[in-house]
Amino acid sequence: MGDYLRPATLEEALQALARPWTVLAGGTDFYPARVGRAIDDDVLDIGGIGALRGIAEGPAGWRLGATTTWSELIETPLPRLFDGLKQAAREVGGRQIQNAGTLAGNLCNASPAADGVPPLLALGAEVELAGRDGTRRLPLAAFITGNRRTVLAPGELVVAIHVPKPARGARSAFLKLGARRYLVISIAMAAATLEVEDSRVIAARIAVGACSAVAQRLPALETALIGATVNSLAARVEASQLVPLSPIDDVRGSAGYRQEAVATLLRRLLAGFAP
Ligand SMILES: Cc1cc2nc3c(=O)[nH]c(=O)nc-3n(C[C@H](O)[C@H](O)[C@H](O)COP(=O)(O)OP(=O)(O)OC[C@H]3O[C@@H](n4cnc5c(N)ncnc54)[C@H](O)[C@@H]3O)c2cc1C
Repeated sequence: MGDYLRPATLEEALQALARPWTVLAGGTDFYPARVGRAIDDDVLDIGGIGALRGIAEGPAGWRLGATTTWSELIETPLPRLFDGLKQAAREVGGRQIQNAGTLAGNLCNASPAADGVPPLLALGAEVELAGRDGTRRLPLAAFITGNRRTVLAPGELVVAIHVPKPARGARSAFLKLGARRYLVISIAMAAATLEVEDSRVIAARIAVGACSAVAQRLPALETALIGATVNSLAARVEASQLVPLSPIDDVRGSAGYRQEAVATLLRRLLAGFAP
């Protein structure tokens, strides 16, 4: 077994990261990746750092601490803007996984099927990184660069996820397709955040996961929704808008099935915004 360190402060953690450590948050991706072999990593457990935990509202938006768990998110009273992210949280594994697994762990693991990514893309979220030389903030779309790849540099930690406040009241929604209803890896999932005025869409962000190496926004569909009444959104979904997706064949579904299923998923998701 390697070294184990559980700092109480962010400063202590960042000083430790002057040399390589494997970061451990909830461990729900870390441990399954090491089944059947001894853990010889030097482990930096960030679960004891209070400053990385919790959800706070400020004038410009919300700060979701990196080690906020899915259960904490579900239990925090938040505006309807967060309905989609909360729906995703309820579908991340079962209750035990939601109690341990963290939002930032889901992003850093960067699985194409990470359920947190589409709703956070649809919220326009940014990721805050800290290292010994300071902090930097970048859009989530720029943080995850490929299957299991992020721009996290050696010595850096994700410290928070920031969700900006929309100009007007906004709602969001999330739908996941799996081989069964719960406890399942997504075949495809879709998330939407809509700003609506007088029953018409003023602004839209739509993101799809598990249909490309990294979850993708669908700009052509977003544009097609502007000005549409909330009762007519599903009819605006067209196959040509799915061009950013590049689904693969795998044990959970064929590329062709995913391509068709995601169009249906998007129509259902958007139909859910009707009063
Ligand atoms: C039974 C089971 C069911 C699951 N179901 C789902 C599901 O339905 N949907 C889904 O999306 N996921 C699912 N997962 C995966 C997992 O639970 C989530 O991805 C979870 O959010 C990971 O968070 P964690 O805190 O446990 O990450 P960890 O396992 O602690 O870490 C994951 C990775 O991120 C790095 N890391 C973590 N936090 C930071 C940080 N702040 N800064 C830098 N690096 C960091 C770690 O070094 C590691 O590489 C499931 C896992 C299990 C075991």
